Amino acid sequence: MNATKRIVLIGPPGCGKGTQAKRIEEATGMVQLSTGDMLRAAVAAGSPIGLKAKAVMEAGQLVSDDLIIGMVADRIKQPDCAKGFILDGFPRSIPQAEALARMLAENQQPMNGAIEIRVPDQFIVERITGRYTCAKCGAGYHDKFQKPKQDGVCDKCGASEFSRRKDDNEETVRTRLGAYHDVTAPIVGFYEKGGILKVVDGTQAIDDVTKSIMGVLGSL
Ligand code: ADP
Ligand code: ADP
Ligand code: ZN
Repeated sequence: MNATKRIVLIGPPGCGKGTQAKRIEEATGMVQLSTGDMLRAAVAAGSPIGLKAKAVMEAGQLVSDDLIIGMVADRIKQPDCAKGFILDGFPRSIPQAEALARMLAENQQPMNGAIEIRVPDQFIVERITGRYTCAKCGAGYHDKFQKPKQDGVCDKCGASEFSRRKDDNEETVRTRLGAYHDVTAPIVGFYEKGGILKVVDGTQAIDDVTKSIMGVLGSL
């Protein structure tokens, strides 16, 4: 497969963007670019971006377009992105989608596809409140849908410390879902107009979602 593809994963919180982006990265060498992960690293480091983003993230609201666009513009200039990339959690608004299109046009790099992972709202609270990750390697798990093979031990690295995100609680999920429908969902229409939108059913089992996405990738 041509590995220099650039794609966007779109979908509500908990639809499986991070889970699938990691699998695509492992299978293809394309780089996962998660703006949520970048922001959490900035918060942990106490950098200027982190200081601006912390409270907004904890409240489940969206960080300002300017801050996010600057962060992504810097990231996609890095040499590893020449291998192709999977945007996970960006763009999340029409101004972000327009800014991304401008950045890529400047480098004569087309966007190859935008994949919507479609999951209805009624699945989301359970997805989010059951989510946790390995504190050492970041591997993702779920209380019900993706348990480690051995209870309390990470499949990937053997560590036994796990963590949950501060914003993964029921109240914040409702705010995040509202932001998704109001501000983010319009980008689905943006990519549909651009002729590069593909939709996969995100309510399938994790492995089946991966198969659907790999099928779409092969067709791009
Ligand atoms: P996102 O990055 O879109 O917020 P994640 O990939 O972190 O979503 O997935 C949210 C939670 O749901 C995680 O705990 C993950 O293990 C679980 N999950 C992901 N995809 C599925 C699926 N297809 N079916 C059931 N659970 C899933
Ligand atoms: P999820 O996995 O639940 O979809 P993310 O990890 O992608 O969440 O993002 C966590 C939080 O970081 C968001 O609720 C938001 O506050 C902020 N964030 C991440 N990406 C963006 C973005 N592109 N634009 C604005 N805010 C963002
Ligand atoms: Zn681990």
